[in-house]
Amino acid sequence: MLQELDFQVLEVYRGLDVAVADFAARTGLTCPQGCGHCCRSEKVEATVLECIPLAFELFRTFQAELILKRLEKDCDERRCILYRSDFTEAGLWGCSQYRFRPVVCRLFGFAGNRDRGGIARLAMCRIMKEGAGPGACALVVDDGDISLPLFSDAGLRITALHPGLGVARMPVNTALREALQKVGMVLDLADPAPPVEQSDPDHPPDKPVFPIPRFKRRAA
Ligand code: SF4
Ligand code: SF4
Repeated sequence: MLQELDFQVLEVYRGLDVAVADFAARTGLTCPQGCGHCCRSEKVEATVLECIPLAFELFRTFQAELILKRLEKDCDERRCILYRSDFTEAGLWGCSQYRFRPVVCRLFGFAGNRDRGGIARLAMCRIMKEGAGPGACALVVDDGDISLPLFSDAGLRITALHPGLGVARMPVNTALREALQKVGMVLDLADPAPPVEQSDPDHPPDKPVFPIPRFKRRAA
């Protein structure tokens, strides 16, 4: 079930990336190289479902345990735990899991919402506004040839996949922690630990008590 959702969420992500790339190409909007300002916000939110592919990837690459420990230790930390300032300093975007980032991280700066009159309006980020100058926001929205990705549409696509996991938005660290816990349980059930022999209670077992679950790789 979660494995199927993993593929379905990634499919939504591929569609969003195409829409954002098209919008960026038509408008000429770009992020300054290595900006990462949005990742440093304390308001990044996601649903648990959006973090399922990320959770599978963290298990596949044996990073899940470490990340879970950090999330449990810094459970009040609102800034995304995946942000790496050294990545930004190196001219990268600051996200240590860029390919698996949630919806808002894919859309921020390149998407909008409908106003009360039903007109789609770009929610340009502050950094872009400063770079693009006055009037840029109106320019890109007024052109009928340009299809503006909408946050609400993306949210509906995610919700439709699994209303139980895809509705409630929460701080990204909380969503990731819940996704890791759910995926961890599924992997444990898929490949249960062999029974530990109680041979000698005075000595440690000669094999791991909780072996790392064998994870089936995604098809490339
Ligand atoms: S969306 Fe805005 S804040 Fe985020 S990286 Fe691009 S320019 Fe920077
Ligand atoms: S998941 Fe990545 S892109 Fe999104 S806020 Fe965290 S560091 Fe930034």
